[in-house]
Amino acid sequence: MAIITRLTSSQTSFLSIFSSSIARHFSSYGVNRRGMAAKAGEVTRFDFLVVGGGSGGLAGARRAAELGANAAVIESNRLGGTCVNVGCVPKKVMWNAAVHAEFLHDHADYGFDVKNVHFSWEKLKAKRDAYISRLNTIYRNNLDKANITTIEGHARFTNDTQPTLEVNGKKYTAPHILIATGGQPLVLSDAEVPGASLGITSDGFFELETLPKRSLVVGAGYIAVEMAGILATLGSKTSLIIRQNEVLRNFDSFISTNCTKELQNSGVDLWKNSQVTSLRKTDKGLEVTIATKGEKDSRTISEVDCVLWAIGRMPNIDGLNVGQLGVDTDKQGHIVVDEYQNASRQGIYAVGDVCGRALLTPVAIAAARKLAHRLFEGKKDSKLDYSNIPTVVFSHPPIGTMGLTEEEAISSSGKENVKVYQTTFTPLYHAITTRKTLCLMKLVCVGEEEKVVGLHMQGQGCDEILQGFAVAIKLGATKADFDKTIAIHPTSAEELVTMR
Ligand code: FAD
Ligand code: NDP
Repeated sequence: MAIITRLTSSQTSFLSIFSSSIARHFSSYGVNRRGMAAKAGEVTRFDFLVVGGGSGGLAGARRAAELGANAAVIESNRLGGTCVNVGCVPKKVMWNAAVHAEFLHDHADYGFDVKNVHFSWEKLKAKRDAYISRLNTIYRNNLDKANITTIEGHARFTNDTQPTLEVNGKKYTAPHILIATGGQPLVLSDAEVPGASLGITSDGFFELETLPKRSLVVGAGYIAVEMAGILATLGSKTSLIIRQNEVLRNFDSFISTNCTKELQNSGVDLWKNSQVTSLRKTDKGLEVTIATKGEKDSRTISEVDCVLWAIGRMPNIDGLNVGQLGVDTDKQGHIVVDEYQNASRQGIYAVGDVCGRALLTPVAIAAARKLAHRLFEGKKDSKLDYSNIPTVVFSHPPIGTMGLTEEEAISSSGKENVKVYQTTFTPLYHAITTRKTLCLMKLVCVGEEEKVVGLHMQGQGCDEILQGFAVAIKLGATKADFDKTIAIHPTSAEELVTMR
């Protein structure tokens, strides 16, 4: 069995600070203080053992190592996790390509003569995949440089009394174990919807070798909106099947209503109040049967090349064997943690999608870093503030949103204490284009001082506009603070500081 023994100078200084508690801990295993990861029996020991080399796991391990901990990351797939391999990064590349396709419609209006433009999905995919591959290597190198041990394979908790993980027949333990195993797309079984398995999920989207001529996307959340938008904008005839009247129903209604319209505006064939009831393979592709509320007969869409299920995600805990550890999970299998990311068993923590709260890369990263500071720098109050998290949906045009929706503000503060400022306009960019998209902005303010508690917008550039305003809102800005700020002209963002 390989013995992993690494001790950097920073680890040595860390040891001198925290030596007594660590010595106490390791003496119980008969491990000497300098040989932190020395073998004792069958088990290799670390200070910090991280399951999952995605956004949260990598961030936590690297910060812990910077703070002197002897850390290891166990990863069963490609380093970088969902975000890097089948999420944010390749998605943004595809969205960028779709934005090119949108701008092509405007080129003639801006005086460019661009005939015979040819788009190659194959070329784009090859460049995207090569980039992701480079990122995988960079992540590995970064772990090596930080003296973090990478353990390849699927981790599973053993039945030992001390929390222990087994990977490819070898055992590992640590006083602090972080579960950062993320999630995976939710899939329906063939029993629920006959032929459901003929469809793909967002993971399969990134494997598509060609642009499907005819696509059908099911779902009404981030992924459905983003992927239907990308496919339609790049030229696939795309239908989006939603169960209710609008997409993004948990967003401010100003945004969900507008996003629903903009999807149609960008060429998506939207089926409201509808559900896929079966899929069938034919010589000419898939035949999809859809039932729509209020209609007696089901309808069929034929010759579909790609059906993409985007109906939510579920935590990756299969085969992890957390049950026997005494780690509580909720009904969906998310690991239950307190505000400090502590799971219900001492020494076990969880961050990121596996906890089921704000499934976003920066949230997983921030929570993991805060945890590392708490465990390895003695900052006992270090925890992530989950309020006011800004988020962007890469729709066409993009959505930027943070804080309370108008509906939430009214229900928490009362209608009489909520003041809303909103505007809808056509951005200057579209003044001379035939193709139009709108820009919408809403500020939700509360109390006499009109503290800004929510910002919701959709329009060109809103993805990039949000971050700066998020700082102001996080600092407690009021409407008066927005008003005091001089506008930048001519931009869409200036509307946010000139609303009345
Ligand atoms: P992950 O990044 O999923 O990492 C978990 C890792 O654990 C995986 O690598 C997995 O292989 C590994 N693992 C699981 N079980 C085991 C085991 N037993 N043993 C060993 N290894 C294991 N977020 C944004 O902020 N912006 C975006 O634009 C965005 N776009 C997205 C687009 C898509 C299509 C998807 C699916 C997600 C997107 N997200 C986006 C969400 C973001 O990807 C996740 O919130 C983030 O990756 C969660 O990080 P994590 O560390 O919790 O899990
Ligand atoms: P979401 O939770 O965002 O949306 C899924 C939606 O699908 C549900 O809200 C529901 O909407 C609908 N749905 C659920 N079950 C069914 C069903 N059986 N048939 C039809 N529709 C169904 O999940 P996603 O998978 O889109 O994304 C997961 C998370 O990943 C997001 O919440 C987000 O946190 C993260 N993400 C972030 C991105 C970003 O930051 N840009 C991009 C992509 C993902 P309804 O009830 O209205 O029918």
